[in-house]
Amino acid sequence: MIAKNFEQVHRHIVGTAERVGRDPGDVRLVAVTKEHDTDTIAEGLRAGAKVLGENKIQDAQGKIETLGHDGMEWHFIGHLQKNKVKFIFDLFDLIHSVDSAALAEAIHEKAQARGTCMPILLQVNVSGEASKFGMDPDDAPEVIHRLASLEGVKIKGLMTIPPFDADPEKSRPYYVRLRELRDSCAKLAFPNVSLDELSMGMSNDYEVAIEEGATLVRVGTALFGPRPSTK
Ligand SMILES: *Cc1c(COP(=O)(O)O)cnc(C)c1O
Repeated sequence: MIAKNFEQVHRHIVGTAERVGRDPGDVRLVAVTKEHDTDTIAEGLRAGAKVLGENKIQDAQGKIETLGHDGMEWHFIGHLQKNKVKFIFDLFDLIHSVDSAALAEAIHEKAQARGTCMPILLQVNVSGEASKFGMDPDDAPEVIHRLASLEGVKIKGLMTIPPFDADPEKSRPYYVRLRELRDSCAKLAFPNVSLDELSMGMSNDYEVAIEEGATLVRVGTALFGPRPSTK
């Protein structure tokens, strides 16, 4: 079942990218493994998963200890509390969900102490929903400016989570807004900042996200089925 799902999602990614004249190689699938056990994740790896997404440090620790890092990347996609920052360096290759300048500064400080640098995406709340984490789009240029000189973080792009709607077309305006925000920030040409990555799109709307420029789609349910908590 999981192998079939991967095949189908992969086919949809390639088909959608080609339809809008994009290189399918520019779209990476983040297989969201939150709530799933290591047996299920191992099945995903056999089905071709290269990038795995987890949203809780304490859940990810055991899984990553068991499965390791060989031939795969682990990405953090959840809300990161400052007191958990110290754990991310041994676990994750990219943090999608840096939702404030203060959090980025905390990552920078810990990274510097370890003599390393953490690649990050800035999470932007393009919908303005009060329940969503992420910075105000209007603040993004100033935040990027402030973070550009920090050696412990490397900004790679932007991420967003739109309000859930069963109709994928409802997500499109938010994905357009994130792309336009990226384009306008990229024009400011901050040194040490690349804004190539757009992390947007989930099981129900990743095709729309790819049409609008997503380079990382975060897909869980369409690959692994419903999560235990939603069954
Ligand atoms: C759970 C989660 C996803 C995956 O959602 P699905 O609808 O199962 O594809 C994507 N992004 C984030 C940030 C998540 O927390």
